[in-house]
Amino acid sequence: MARIIDGKILAEKIRKEITSDTNLLRLRGITPGLAVVLVGEDPASKVYVSMKEKACHDVGIFSDEYKLSTETSEAELLTLISRLNADSKINGILVQLPLPKHIDSDKVLESILPEKDVDGFHPYNAGRLVVGKPLFQPCTPYGVMKMLQYEGVRLAGKEVVVIGRSNIVGKPVAAMCLQQNATVTICHSQTKDLEAKVRMADVVIAAVGQPEMIKGDWIKDGAIVIDVGVNRVGEKKLVGDVEYVAASIHAAAITPVPGGVGPMTITMLLYNTVESAKRTSH
Ligand code: NDP
Repeated sequence: MARIIDGKILAEKIRKEITSDTNLLRLRGITPGLAVVLVGEDPASKVYVSMKEKACHDVGIFSDEYKLSTETSEAELLTLISRLNADSKINGILVQLPLPKHIDSDKVLESILPEKDVDGFHPYNAGRLVVGKPLFQPCTPYGVMKMLQYEGVRLAGKEVVVIGRSNIVGKPVAAMCLQQNATVTICHSQTKDLEAKVRMADVVIAAVGQPEMIKGDWIKDGAIVIDVGVNRVGEKKLVGDVEYVAASIHAAAITPVPGGVGPMTITMLLYNTVESAKRTSH
């Protein structure tokens, strides 16, 4: 049976290291600051934002919250971001997505100063990642890489198959694996014979959003499985994109859902915010 890659334990370990860093910064009179901007009433976004605020507080990051009404105009939001860009107490700016339909999300994300783009979504930061000189790495893929590192997985020469090509997970995680000299295959909804691609993988990274669509018996014996997917089945149950129980028979190690990649995402946001504060304090 596969080893379980426990995201909660790793996230806790990294958060302790982040707290040590914020304690050291405080001795120099610096408190890292994260501005969290929420527009509208989306219930899931509200939950994410409050989780982020609490996580900041727990590790010694100052979080500055802006909860704006659904009617907020694009111009008003851009004015707020411009003010936060200029605020020296703010090291990171996070705009919670999705934004209401009347606001152009790309325009808003591109208005964030790349040096404060702790989500790593600005095209400048996406480009830096692709050329192998990252400034901020997007949080979920960065969390995946930390998990692989923690597991002692050396990616050089390995076959990595990424399923999903979104700008926030699939594409950046593929770029990060390539940077570590893996041979990377990126699959998506037009990919032919997904099963054959998964069967050849030493490392499978699934970021699709379809409950258990990667079948357990596609997993090569000894492969590492990182399941980014979070899918609600019925009222309460959450499952990943991979058939967890069946995949565990073949895999050497696998992330559970929940309790796998999920806890790593906010942790890497905290990490990026503290890195930003360290950079500006030098
Ligand atoms: P998107 O919907 O943006 O992207 C999904 C990707 O999956 C697309 O590239 C799509 O292909 C591909 N896809 C869809 N159907 C198939 C199929 N049948 N075969 C192969 N590929 C397919 O999702 P995200 O990247 O934002 O998120 C993916 C999952 O990860 C979701 O479950 C989400 O909830 C979860 N997630 C979890 C996070 C965490 O912290 N744990 C953070 C972020 C996301 P195409 O491009 O061709 O449409």
